[in-house]
Amino acid sequence: MRLPSRLVEELSSCVEEECVYVLFGVDGRVVRSVRLVNVLHSRTAFLVDPEEMYRALTENSDLELLGLLHTHPCGSVPSPIDLKYMDLWPVTWVIYSVCDGHVEAWIKRGALYRVPLEIGD
Ligand SMILES: [Zn+2]
Repeated sequence: MRLPSRLVEELSSCVEEECVYVLFGVDGRVVRSVRLVNVLHSRTAFLVDPEEMYRALTENSDLELLGLLHTHPCGSVPSPIDLKYMDLWPVTWVIYSVCDGHVEAWIKRGALYRVPLEIGD
């Protein structure tokens, strides 16, 4: 997966609460990211409104759904709750660690796999 550097730079400001984005693109290259409201407004968890997710998916159906991105205060490894929802959303999950700017991508298909990630435009 290839993420725009502009998006990754934006993630460093996700300090007050976890940020959540839906990633759309073509051939693994993210060309559009849609930020969703974290209805928990929590630093350590996120939850999105299903209606808002539905809108994001239907309004961007001209592109492929490539993945979901969210931030953690520190650490880019899926949490136990992430692992649970990764079964429901078997797309690439990108996790950005705010404390050190580290970013990793994962997919769960039975087991958990790391997805190669490039950053650049
Ligand atoms: Zn998480």
